[in-house]
Amino acid sequence: MNPDRSPDCLKCEYFFVTWDTAFPRGCRIFGIKSRQLPSLEVKKAMGRHCPGFKEAEAVKKRIEDDHSTDITV
Ligand code: SF4
Repeated sequence: MNPDRSPDCLKCEYFFVTWDTAFPRGCRIFGIKSRQLPSLEVKKAMGRHCPGFKEAEAVKKRIEDDHSTDITV
């Protein structure tokens, strides 16, 4: 994660897609729905980057799978 940028909510455990087409992006931690990424709303409200980011298990697994090498000889 780059400390100079807001965390990528799309890779966060707490991100979800809402049913509200006007505010389709949600955050379970902060209980917000927004048009843009919730981490940008958090930055606006708190004046600092979101402290709640937690890498989603699915993302972790994908990264592990990408870095694993299956070398069978
Ligand atoms: S906790 Fe932070 S990074 Fe995660 S979805 Fe909420 S705003 Fe985004």
